[in-house]
Amino acid sequence: MPLAEYSLHGDIAVIRFNNPPMNTLALAMRTEVYELLETAIADPAVKAIVVTGGGRAYCSGAEIREFNTPKTTTFPMSRDLIAAFEESLKPVIAAIHGVAMGGGLENAMGCHYRVALAGAQLALPEVKLGILPGAGGTQRLPRAVGAEKALEMIVTGNPVKSESVAGTLLIDEIIEGDLLAGALAFAARVVAEKRPLRRLRDLAVPLDDADAFFAAARERVANEYRGYPAPLKCVEAVEAAVRLPMDEGLKAERRCFDELVVTTESKALRHAFFGERAVSKIPDIPDDMKGSEIRSAAIVGAGTMGGGIAMSFANAGLTVTLLDTTQEALDRGMATVRKNYAGTVTRGRLSQIEMDKRLGRISPTLEWHDLASADIVIEAVFEDMEVKKTVFGKLDAIARDGAVLASNTSHLDLDEIAAVTKRPASVIGTHFFSPANVMRLLEVVRGAKTSREVLATTLTLAKKLGKLGVVAGVCDGFIGNRMLEAYLQQAYLLLDEGVLPAQIDGALEAWGFAMGPFAMSDLSGNDIILATRKRRREENPENPQSAAPDRLCELGRFGQKTGAGWYRYETGKRTPLNDPAVDALLAEHRKAIGVPARKVSDEEIIERCVIALANEGARILEDGIALRSVDIDMVYLTGYGFPRYRGGPMFWIDNFGLAKAIDRIKTFGKGYMGNCWSVAPLLEQLATAQGTFTQWKGKS
Ligand code: NAD
Repeated sequence: MPLAEYSLHGDIAVIRFNNPPMNTLALAMRTEVYELLETAIADPAVKAIVVTGGGRAYCSGAEIREFNTPKTTTFPMSRDLIAAFEESLKPVIAAIHGVAMGGGLENAMGCHYRVALAGAQLALPEVKLGILPGAGGTQRLPRAVGAEKALEMIVTGNPVKSESVAGTLLIDEIIEGDLLAGALAFAARVVAEKRPLRRLRDLAVPLDDADAFFAAARERVANEYRGYPAPLKCVEAVEAAVRLPMDEGLKAERRCFDELVVTTESKALRHAFFGERAVSKIPDIPDDMKGSEIRSAAIVGAGTMGGGIAMSFANAGLTVTLLDTTQEALDRGMATVRKNYAGTVTRGRLSQIEMDKRLGRISPTLEWHDLASADIVIEAVFEDMEVKKTVFGKLDAIARDGAVLASNTSHLDLDEIAAVTKRPASVIGTHFFSPANVMRLLEVVRGAKTSREVLATTLTLAKKLGKLGVVAGVCDGFIGNRMLEAYLQQAYLLLDEGVLPAQIDGALEAWGFAMGPFAMSDLSGNDIILATRKRRREENPENPQSAAPDRLCELGRFGQKTGAGWYRYETGKRTPLNDPAVDALLAEHRKAIGVPARKVSDEEIIERCVIALANEGARILEDGIALRSVDIDMVYLTGYGFPRYRGGPMFWIDNFGLAKAIDRIKTFGKGYMGNCWSVAPLLEQLATAQGTFTQWKGKS
């Protein structure tokens, strides 16, 4: 099948991209388009050329499968094709529908004119991969829409609708109805009126007071995108478009691109981008195995998680039954759901009609037999093995044959839960994160007996719910919470040594975490975290733990829900405020344990906490709980507020240096409660072999 098609419509040639589904700029397609352009230019009967996309899109940009291969730099490269459009002596008109993104929009901007269907999405999203458009996008877009609009589009990477830029030089005309017919009519007018070849490269970018504009832009971008180098380089490139002639501007763009592409941050962002795709590959589940379709769901437990999970289903257009044990619990749960939706309506992100539709999909009930026809039942009751077992016993008796029986447990042994049913193959863990209607991560816990079919069904469901499903094996805390335990252990031991929660949170937040460990504990509930730690302390008394969280909880300071935790909170507010009472409590605690306070640097705080995370990650890989290190990284990026530009704990430690990390662990091991540290064997092994977690292919 040709990757580009050619047809003649009177004296107008049409070149149609034909690389479904999104017409990515694969080398083979670029080559065919280039040849067809030569054909059109050489044909004396052709007066104008329309370039358009077949199927769903004009063109969504580079072909990611060709990233890091010689194909990206083989002639005709994207910029060669753009130059060929631009230099054509016959008018070239881009006819856009669906999306024109990245290289696709750059390509369209090489044409002399552009028409589009309303609703087409236009974007230069390269910044999200830590780079910037490298085929003239930063130079042509300001010439098309002005510096301000271009800067916004390039720095955020977000799409704009074609109609919002109609009337600028980016979109000359919005076509109603048939795009090709409209584009041909437009081309005929260009020919009849002998319109000049309008090349964006020939235009200047008017801007009053460029000095002030770019100074303000730099300040704003530096604040808003702390840690990300690409947005500031985008400012530099757009400034070049304003101040320099086109060819000089293109050189500046290339220089910025080359500088960015080698940064660890941009590599981390690309690691995260590919990671989103990589985690869906499960060795024994072929790509075409999708499982059975989930059309209806039931949730047991209308608490914090149950309500949020129900909203996730309703948001995805699925009907969901929500069960609790008492009318009071059910009413409370539904009231929270309603309040959350109403908040979104107030903020203008949801219409009242849509809210009513979504609420209408959730049916509260006290009757277990209402769950009988659901395709999936998700249990979200208290984190207590006996309660969970009772619930699964009931579900086994009620749920239809073939229904998926899922548990939202965050730590407990899924196999033990599955064993109370006569159908352990149908049992799986679906570990949602709070707030479940917002957070993208879904840890999909595969039990020893979970069937491949049920796993495939659940992964397909995750996509339908807009979640990133990452498969984990059964262990205490699965991937995310098991690692978190090691991280929190360090944070709490630092308190024993005299560091205050605000310094620890401040250091980790400045490093890029969305929230430090103490602000996070206050949000999740210090009592819940302590309960898990107490259980673990009994199971593994050798592992040293700080008793500071026990002291805090003894005062009933459970976090935001009680108005006080590691911080204090003003009524109705969520901002953590320093509380001298906590400083006094910690001083008292230190006196009791007899540990002198010492000054600890932010660097030590960061290294102790993050190396602890990654060291436990290494054990998780050894134990086969995560399939690959990228799975761990994606769990942390999408569920735990780990900075995306650092790529996740395993990507980070690879770049930090495995040998250096081992040195640090040995040093920490000589410090306070140092027996909590031991180098994970896989870390040792990879350091010796000069390997990395990212390249590790699993146990051979
Ligand atoms: P919650 O206390 O807010 O809600 C639990 C609900 O279950 C309550 O409404 C309760 O009435 C109901 N319930 C208890 N026993 C029941 C039974 N036998 N039958 C029916 N309903 C019953 O708890 P939560 O925070 O929503 O946690 C629920 C589960 O989700 C736990 O396993 C927890 O570990 C897990 N989880 C919680 C979070 C979180 O941040 N809160 C995050 C991930 C996972």
